[in-house]
Amino acid sequence: MSINIKFIGAVRTVTGSMHLVQNGHSNLLIDCGLFQGHREEAFKRNSDFPFDPATLQGLVLSHAHIDHSGNIPNLVKHGFEARIHSTKATADLCSAMLPDSGHIQEEDIKFVNKIHRKKGLPPRKPLYTRVDADRSLEHLSGHPYRKRFEICDNTALTLYDAGHVLGSSIPLIEIKDNGTTCRIAYVVDLGRKNLPILKDPETPPGIDYMFLESTYGGRLHDSVGETDDRLARIVNRTMERGGRIIIPSFALERTQEIVYHLGQLTHEERIPDVPIFVDSPLAVNITDVFRRHPECFDEEMCRLLEEGNDPLGCERIEYITDVERSKSLNRDDRPMIIISASGMCEAGRILHHLKNNIEDPKNTVLVIGYMAKHTLGRRIVERHEEVKIFGQKYSLRAEVQVMNAFSAHADRNEILEYVQPFKDKLKRIFIVHGDEDQSEKLRDLLNEKGFPAYLPEPGEEIELS
Ligand SMILES: [Zn+2]
Ligand SMILES: [Zn+2]
Repeated sequence: MSINIKFIGAVRTVTGSMHLVQNGHSNLLIDCGLFQGHREEAFKRNSDFPFDPATLQGLVLSHAHIDHSGNIPNLVKHGFEARIHSTKATADLCSAMLPDSGHIQEEDIKFVNKIHRKKGLPPRKPLYTRVDADRSLEHLSGHPYRKRFEICDNTALTLYDAGHVLGSSIPLIEIKDNGTTCRIAYVVDLGRKNLPILKDPETPPGIDYMFLESTYGGRLHDSVGETDDRLARIVNRTMERGGRIIIPSFALERTQEIVYHLGQLTHEERIPDVPIFVDSPLAVNITDVFRRHPECFDEEMCRLLEEGNDPLGCERIEYITDVERSKSLNRDDRPMIIISASGMCEAGRILHHLKNNIEDPKNTVLVIGYMAKHTLGRRIVERHEEVKIFGQKYSLRAEVQVMNAFSAHADRNEILEYVQPFKDKLKRIFIVHGDEDQSEKLRDLLNEKGFPAYLPEPGEEIELS
């Protein structure tokens, strides 16, 4: 018997994580993420699966980010009947995030169909609906960290902490075959040491094969200490101009982290006490999930909570769910900070805030997360003079600042440090989850250092020896 890996998604690109592990006993899927990018290409890639979902014995889900979990409702719609294994926090986060994604799919298709109608094209159905998403939640099984359990015949799973977002894990899959055991670790995505709120990434013991992310495989982040200084400078400069700061943020983790940093800076009186809004119903629900999972918090976070601090800004910051309240922010001309989803500016309320604020040079757009190619977020990062929002052109006159130090992904040196203990032990490292240039840089660097790193092609199948 042999074990085969098929690299389906997030290969030589960042989004759409999905890989198939096949052997004589089982077909397992690792992650079932949404590919994000050009609308047409995304629709095509996300619609169908290059395997029959009904033949899967399980789905191993690393974490709740939509590029890892977002195509689950569609997988279930296509006949998946097995269980989805993740940590408990990831399962709870998915319960908030997948229905929200279903809603986004429905809204997006309304917009597409408006254009289709004008062009005389037939209407299109959404990839999945909120109802599909609700249905898929029944398949979720939440597990504790570091507890080994059988997921199907001869296959066991243990989830280690990835230190990337709440509930994120490094799944270790052990497949028994003819008296030997093949151990595959999925280090996608890998977090960083000393991130606020979360514990540091763990290293699973005795790995033969490793999937390794490469989002920042060729780049370095600013240090965390410099981050607070820079954030304070950006806030102070914008407030002195009487402007607003618009922060497109991922509802998961990034929002809670930026709130944490802004809270500390206000507390230390390094920035003025200006109104801060988190305008995203999803972020509100997710912050609730954070409160229910203190087992995921690091010591510092536990200490702040014990001392009666408010690290998630539940009392100090206004969390907005209501649409009318969200709209009213546009009529309020005070300097303020608005944190809103979605992170890559492809959907959600952030679009309204950008539309209303990016033409005014007093304002600042502060980018704190990764922006995939062909997204509005990437065009803002690249400072295009004009950007399209809801089909209309707007001049980008606001200041644009990018702070990668808020990244929840390990950078080049952090990845190297992480893999070091596995030197001479790994049979192969599969580089995934990165733009092609970053993946190539990481592969070359690892090979130079004596690691057996390999960068697969999309759709490539490899037999493990
Ligand atoms: Zn992630
Ligand atoms: Zn990811």
